[in-house]
Amino acid sequence: MEPSKKMDSAGTLQTNPPLKLHPERGAGTSIFVPEQGGYKERFVKTVEDKYKCEKCRLVLCNPKQTECGHRFCETCMAALLSSSRPKCTACQEGIIKDKVFKDNCCKREILALQIYCRNEGGGCTEQLALGHLLVHLKNDCQFEELSCVRADCKEKVLRRDLRDHVEKACKYREATCSHCKSQVPMITLQKHEDTECPCVVVSCPHKCSVQTLLRSELSAHLSECVNAPSTCSFKRYGCVFQGTNQQIKAHEASSAVQHVNLLKEWSNSLEKKKKSANTQSGR
Ligand SMILES: [Zn+2]
Ligand SMILES: [Zn+2]
Ligand SMILES: [Zn+2]
Ligand SMILES: [Zn+2]
Ligand SMILES: [Zn+2]
Ligand SMILES: [Zn+2]
Ligand SMILES: [Zn+2]
Repeated sequence: MEPSKKMDSAGTLQTNPPLKLHPERGAGTSIFVPEQGGYKERFVKTVEDKYKCEKCRLVLCNPKQTECGHRFCETCMAALLSSSRPKCTACQEGIIKDKVFKDNCCKREILALQIYCRNEGGGCTEQLALGHLLVHLKNDCQFEELSCVRADCKEKVLRRDLRDHVEKACKYREATCSHCKSQVPMITLQKHEDTECPCVVVSCPHKCSVQTLLRSELSAHLSECVNAPSTCSFKRYGCVFQGTNQQIKAHEASSAVQHVNLLKEWSNSLEKKKKSANTQSGR
């Protein structure tokens, strides 16, 4: 791995909050145990028969030894013992459950056997002790597939590519908006510029002559834009003129006589209403 100033010794990206490239590190050593039967790993040297299970013929996992001296995986032995008259599959002798014991010496020897990494096909050339497999995969194997450290990113990347992915390729890495300088996830940058960024120059929807309008100024501009549609301020007195702010201005300047007439009509009709209301209440 190339050294990088942005990384500390634990391989943690110095961001805020810190992104951990090795979330599993320090989680405790554990040894890989297949769900059923023995190990299917590819061993560097041919494994001696004494390390193979008499039932599944794979390399023993958590070996148990019978009184007759034959060895079985823990799960294979459990399967044998579940029958009514358990028999050793190697010598046909009956198995007495209480005489079966954990063969820890054999287990230690097996866990020390050298294997090829499970990601050999992906490019890992490591040879390691069987007992070290899980630690290697969890912490070290450069060809292990990992999830991106950013929860929103669903991409899987090899450990050796993770740093590059996080810093340079991840769609969810922070990018700086060139207009407002705020930090935005890369994947939403375009949308931010197109619909949200307050510092982007937008054109007036009414196609007026103002050319330097920022998105943050748009709503204030719309109420005063010369091309915005509006109504005459004498509308409530009956003027039906409609037009742009500019046309309304011109209309109001040139329609003083009409507007005064409208006012007269309006006040006349108001008086009539009052009179008829009075005569009605006078009955
Ligand atoms: Zn077995
Ligand atoms: Zn036997
Ligand atoms: Zn590996
Ligand atoms: Zn990512
Ligand atoms: Zn912006
Ligand atoms: Zn405008
Ligand atoms: Zn008017």
